[in-house]
Amino acid sequence: MRAKKRFGQNFLRDERVIERIVDAADIREGDHILEIGPGDGALTAKMLERGAWVSSIEIDRDLTEFLRSRFANDERFQLVIGDALSLDLVQFGSGELKIVANLPYNISTPILQRFIEIKSELLLMVLMFQREVVERIAAPPGISDRGFLSVMVEDAFIVEKLFDIPPTAFSPVPKVWSSVARFTPRSDSYEAAANLRRLVSAAFAQKRKTLENNLKRLYPDLKEIAGSVGVDPRARAEALTLEQWRDLAAAIQAHRNQSR
Ligand code: SAM
Repeated sequence: MRAKKRFGQNFLRDERVIERIVDAADIREGDHILEIGPGDGALTAKMLERGAWVSSIEIDRDLTEFLRSRFANDERFQLVIGDALSLDLVQFGSGELKIVANLPYNISTPILQRFIEIKSELLLMVLMFQREVVERIAAPPGISDRGFLSVMVEDAFIVEKLFDIPPTAFSPVPKVWSSVARFTPRSDSYEAAANLRRLVSAAFAQKRKTLENNLKRLYPDLKEIAGSVGVDPRARAEALTLEQWRDLAAAIQAHRNQSR
């Protein structure tokens, strides 16, 4: 089978790494798994072996025959050929869904935003990304890696970076290291998610600018509002903690309601 670069195909070959990923998701008999990008089925096989029901979304039509025949005798395997970025993911939801995926670099940001949207369907996710992506997602306040995605993911999930994987675990061998992280949905996410998203997205629009400069057009009273919750409007977006983002979003909302 020829791996396709445009789909970010690097297939896992290291049995120990495969075991560790499946262990990280604590896969048990009867679990419902949504897998994005099964490739040639390395993770899929291990999850089926553990007794889980696995629905796998694969964009590459050319893998259909191989996957269907590899798991032909397993009624717990469902293959959906399509783009995980445009398919309705809620249809796989059960309130207790686990997502397991080794994801190509180019879809990491949009796919995470989609996972945030279906958070209430999830029990947990174990995801593998290029190492730099995990570092960005898990970047704490004050680090320049921290961005829109770090804040929105932190609001939705508790993120644990678990382990790194060397390029030699894959075929073809990629140029970069990968990392695996576990995401557990939070029960205390910010209620008005759209408001938080609008604020954080505008605040990170130009990373080197201050909050005030990025936000003054959208929120003309920003200085006063930020001051009321102890946030320095001259700070950069990367400096703020999740709590500060939530406080700021709430204060903006309260200010809006008052001036109506
Ligand atoms: N899970 C396999 C493994 O670990 O060996 C393959 C991982 S490979 C890095 C990524 C897989 O995602 C490929 O099979 C690729 O075709 C698939 N893929 C890429 N973009 C996709 C998308 N938008 N929707 C669904 N699958 C996608």
